[in-house]
Order: sequence, then C-alpha cells, then structure tokens
Amino acid sequence: MNALDTILAERLEDLRAKNLLRRLRRVDSPQSVEIQAGGRRLLNFSSNDYLGLADDPLLKDAAAEAIRQFGAGAGASRLISGSLAPHHELEEALARFKQTEAALTFSSGYAAAVGTICALVGPGDVILLDKLVHASIVDAARLSRARLRVFAHNDVDDLDRILQFERSRIQAAGSDGQILVATESVFSMDGDQAPLRELVAVKEKSGAWLMVDEAHATGILGPNGRGLAAEFGVDNRIEVQMGTLGKALGTSGGFICGSRRLIDYLVHRARSFLFSTAPAPATAAAATAALQLIQSQEGETRRRRLIQRITELHSRISITGAPASSAIVPVILGEELLALQAAEALLEGGIFVPAIRYPTVRRGAARLRITLCATHTPEHISTLARALRQIPSCAPPAEPGNR
Ligand SMILES: *Cc1c(COP(=O)(O)O)cnc(C)c1O
Repeated sequence: MNALDTILAERLEDLRAKNLLRRLRRVDSPQSVEIQAGGRRLLNFSSNDYLGLADDPLLKDAAAEAIRQFGAGAGASRLISGSLAPHHELEEALARFKQTEAALTFSSGYAAAVGTICALVGPGDVILLDKLVHASIVDAARLSRARLRVFAHNDVDDLDRILQFERSRIQAAGSDGQILVATESVFSMDGDQAPLRELVAVKEKSGAWLMVDEAHATGILGPNGRGLAAEFGVDNRIEVQMGTLGKALGTSGGFICGSRRLIDYLVHRARSFLFSTAPAPATAAAATAALQLIQSQEGETRRRRLIQRITELHSRISITGAPASSAIVPVILGEELLALQAAEALLEGGIFVPAIRYPTVRRGAARLRITLCATHTPEHISTLARALRQIPSCAPPAEPGNR
C-alpha cells in the first residue's frame, strides 16, 4: 500500500463500521422494471425512469439515427467546435414544452445546477435553500461563494422571515446584492411537494429570484408533464426553471428554461457549460424523442398508469410518512443498519430497492427509497407489497379489502 492507500483504507474501514459502505451493483441488462444483476433477475424499484422510457424503442431508434447522422461524440464544448443540430432541436423542443423563451442543456442536472447558480450569484449576494434541497444545488451554492442561508423544509414563513432579514441587511449595507431562492418541486428522497404558489408570492414580495428544480416532476406532473409549477399556474413567475433529462425523460442531461436573456447569459457564464464537452448527439436526439412522447397520448396513458400503480401500492400497504400520490415512496427506518438489512431482505426475495443513507439523507434518517414506474404491472406491485409487510413502519392498511 502506498501512503495514500493507507489513509484511504482507514477511511473506508470507518465507513464500513458506520454501515455507510457502498458498492456498485453491476447490471447486465437495460434499466427497466426487471433487471439482470449478479446472475439473477430482479424486480426493480430503484430507478427514476418513472415512465419506462430508458429502454423505449422510440428513444433508442432516435439515438441510433443520430449516431448514424452525427457520429458518436460531440468533439468539444459547443462554443468551441460548433453546436450540433440535435442539441438545438432539443433546446427548441424544451422551450416549447415549458413555454419559455429559451432553454439550455447541460451534460447533467448536476452540471446545470452548478453552472447556473455560480453564474447568477457570487460574493455579496445571498442564496437561500430549502433544507432538503438536492446536493447539486447545495454544492453549487457553496461554490458560488454567495452568502448561504437555509430555510426550514417547505416552510414559507421561515423563508419570508429570512428574506426580510437579508433584504434589510443588503439595504443597510447599501450594496447591490441579489437574493436567489432555490428549491425542488418534488423532493427526491421524500416525494413531497413544495408549496410553489406561496413560495412565488413570498419571493416576489422581497424582490428575490426563484430557481425551481423540477427533476422529479418533469414528465409526470402538470399539463403534458410540464411540471408542478405549471400545474399550479406559477411557472411563468419562476425565473429559473431547472430539470433533468435523466429521470422521467429516460436519457441523461440537465436543462434550464427561462427568458432569452437568461439563456444568453448562461452561454457566456455557466462554466460547466463552457468548459465541458457537449453531450453525445445521440443523447440529445433520444431526449427530443422522449419530450415528444411524454406530450403525446402515450405519455398521458403512462402518467395515468403510474398513478394507478401508486394507488395500488397504498391500497395494499400503509407506509408511515409516505406521501399518498408520489412515485417516490420513502420507508423511513432511521438507523443505517436497519435500512441495509431491509434492503438485503427484499433482495433475497428478488426485489431491488436501494437503502438510502448518509450523505444522501441526514444521519439517522436512513430509509428504503421505492420508486414506482408506469411500466410496473399490478403483479409487480402486489409482490412488492407482500415483501414490505415484514418491514417495520409498513403495515397492511386498516380498511378492509387488503390483500
Ligand atoms: C438527480 C437530481 C439532480 C441531478 O441531475 P442529474 O442529471 O442526475 O445530474 C438534480 N436535482 C435533483 C432534485 C435530482 O434528483
């Protein structure tokens, strides 16, 4: 062992002792509701591919066609080697979908968050985050060197209080500091929703800007799957609308939708856009096909099926603290070890549900995170419900009719 490895061995041992060791599980099949892993077929409740698009023929054909026409790689960053047509087509489709003036895509949602937040705020500004916001936004906020403040989860009064305080602080200092509020619309590890109407009203009162990450709502909620902000009718009052292509849209990448000026500015200042090779054209073309699909009758059918699966699960098992109508179903177990043991027990029965631990959630809030997809069958759901009955904080529903 070299000197570095000696230290790393200690750190890894420490993680193991705390039940925080992780390993990559190799999968030898496409991401789908059934996957092949470790020589077994597993029923998959781990993926964010909510509409079952990751292995959809329409997306795969679009990707294959783009490879034939545009090759496998993008060559360089889009400002350097030219910007391939599939990226433009995707951004035009995204802007139409979200009904904004313009859109910009990034290689990931993480890159979208980091590039955008660091472009918009810096030293002298304030960034205000919901306590449970995704790590990509937390990292972006730290990297921006803006003053970082956190408001209690979904607590509009707390946000209002901090906004007023920070606004008067900026005024007293006579500075031109700006305030950016950032939150998620559907929270990734709890599945609950942000009170977007109230958040919009509060940020407008104080003249702050609002960024909403719709990673887990895009494709699922709102008219045509436009997201929760559109469902609440406040999308046009949110300056920075973020989403990912890697969840319900079945591919990968991140995007920002907003005004033409916002997008023009990000092209100049978002460093994760400027200094990173453009995504493969095949990925962009597949995402454009996914956008078309989710806005079609087929998209509507899949959203309806997803809701049916969610309803079926809750009719068979009652899970403490899980929101009633979310594809994200957290089973909070607390101790890291409990979550690991529960995941292991499910795996023995051929069901793959990830144990989510620190640092993805706070210490002592370990959980199983079940995700449901439109492509799960009613049989998949009843198999899952039966297996869950052995797990603490899951119980058969009180009403008659439980199976
Ligand atoms: C997954 C996720 C991201 C990051 O998106 P990637 O495309 O996976 O990098 C950002 N925000 C939220 C809420 C997410 O769940």
